[in-house]
Amino acid sequence: PEERMYITQGLHRQIQAKPDVVAIRGPDGAVTYARLGDRVARLAAALKGVGVASGDRVAMLSLNSRRYIEYYLAVPWADAVLAPVNTRWSQAEIVYSLDDCEPAVLIVDDTFTDMGRKVAEAARTVRTLIYAGDGETPPGMLGYEALIAAAEPVADARRSGDALLGVFYTGGTTGFPKGVMLSHNNIAFSTLAALNNGSYGGDATFLHAMPMFHLADYAGMCALFLSGGSHVVMPAFTPGETLAAIARDNVTDIMLAPTMLQMVLDWRDRDPAAAALDLTSLRSVTYGASPITPALLDRARAAFPSAGFMQGYGMTELSPIATTLGPDWHSEEHQKTGKMYSAGRPGLCMEVRIVDPDDNEVPRGTVGEITVRGPNVMMGYLNKPAETAEALRNGWMHTGDGGYMVADGFVYVCDRLKDMIVSGGENVYSAEVETAIASHPAIAQIAVIGVPSEKWGEQVHAVVVLKPGADMGEEEIVAHCRSRIAGYKCPRSVEFRDALPLSSIGKVLKTELRKPYWEGRARGVA
Ligand code: ATP
Ligand code: MG
Repeated sequence: PEERMYITQGLHRQIQAKPDVVAIRGPDGAVTYARLGDRVARLAAALKGVGVASGDRVAMLSLNSRRYIEYYLAVPWADAVLAPVNTRWSQAEIVYSLDDCEPAVLIVDDTFTDMGRKVAEAARTVRTLIYAGDGETPPGMLGYEALIAAAEPVADARRSGDALLGVFYTGGTTGFPKGVMLSHNNIAFSTLAALNNGSYGGDATFLHAMPMFHLADYAGMCALFLSGGSHVVMPAFTPGETLAAIARDNVTDIMLAPTMLQMVLDWRDRDPAAAALDLTSLRSVTYGASPITPALLDRARAAFPSAGFMQGYGMTELSPIATTLGPDWHSEEHQKTGKMYSAGRPGLCMEVRIVDPDDNEVPRGTVGEITVRGPNVMMGYLNKPAETAEALRNGWMHTGDGGYMVADGFVYVCDRLKDMIVSGGENVYSAEVETAIASHPAIAQIAVIGVPSEKWGEQVHAVVVLKPGADMGEEEIVAHCRSRIAGYKCPRSVEFRDALPLSSIGKVLKTELRKPYWEGRARGVA
């Protein structure tokens, strides 16, 4: 029904309000709202033309591009279901996810033409490959541009409500990724909540630095279409190009995961040309997706004085934001009250409750599992009824994250429960130890994990990457820690590495770090 909010509503609004204004700018040129609308309507028609029916899934395997945004709009326009593919997955993982969400159509760009061919052959359901690159269409594939040119625009399905909008896979940080089913309503509410926080306004120019397959980027994209902000596309994140794009395109809003933020700051410190760029167009820096250390946050605030900072805490299952900490709380005052290092308060229409393992609410200030209720909570995991029932117990999404809430509703995230270390009967939150170690200037990256111990069950183990040229031994690291946190939380062992294994948005893959230590043994949690 027309009176309901639907995903492409923002696009229609901007086609009407500012048809000749540039909507998207990127290395492959710029496109106005009117032209974008026309292309989306034709792509939707072309998808129907190759047999995509209502509710069918359409997969996309591509770096960030203008066409990726068109895909995100055209699939709901055609009443089909989104299924973006993580570009960092191996061939086997991609095939697994395609067999899980069963798309008939897979769209690939130049980077993934070969991979697309291989996975389409191996996956059960993919019948049609669409080539969304800039070269000549390879044999056996349909050309995206040719399809658009040949199609007649169709009317927008304007689907809304509790129908399935897309299958979005979790980060795969703690295990194999799970397909999260999100409805039109889930994303509609997430969009309104994002706008309610004051970022992504109508005069915003947003840089897509995060990979577009990631839900965080998509939710921001939807908010921008509704408000009328414009998009700057970079194919893949690099710190140098991020800085260059901010200066070149007068970017106002950006979203970065902490590791990406750190890379940008490091780059700026090392490269005089980057340091000389004018970045004062920047008004809003959103960060989240993994814990940030106070040291990194303080450094970022100093490096981008023109920007307000916004933290988002959430997960794919929560469309994806559950709590936010806005610019007002990133102040000297709240550096002192500590609120600046919290994850903020629940978003619009969302509730957070901290519970014990029996699902009873714990007192304020006590650590328990963070659970969330609201219109942003997923429909469930695709093909995983047991995991869905486990996650959505008693009407609340169980995040698997440990945290606590203080009197005025601010939420502090301590650690993933799976990353928590139980040593000699005491709970040690890896994030707290990481914060202590990271405050030393010689540390470039740090991950703290639990490894088996005869005496303690598990012991605290630090995996350290030093800054180039820095020299620091195990004893110095432990001593630095001891001056900041309780003795039982300090590492019993330290390992030095050149780099840490990271996910596509820079989350440390602790399961990989733990693996060699736990081979053949059972850890309480994975
Ligand atoms: P998987 O579920 O497959 O293991 P994942 O949990 O990394 O992967 P996402 O849904 O992308 O996949 O990430 C959600 C998780 O990221 C949260 O459960 C939380 O542990 C972490 N996270 C997100 N935002 C924050 C934040 N602001 N501070 C700390 N941790 C965060
Ligand atoms: Mg998760």
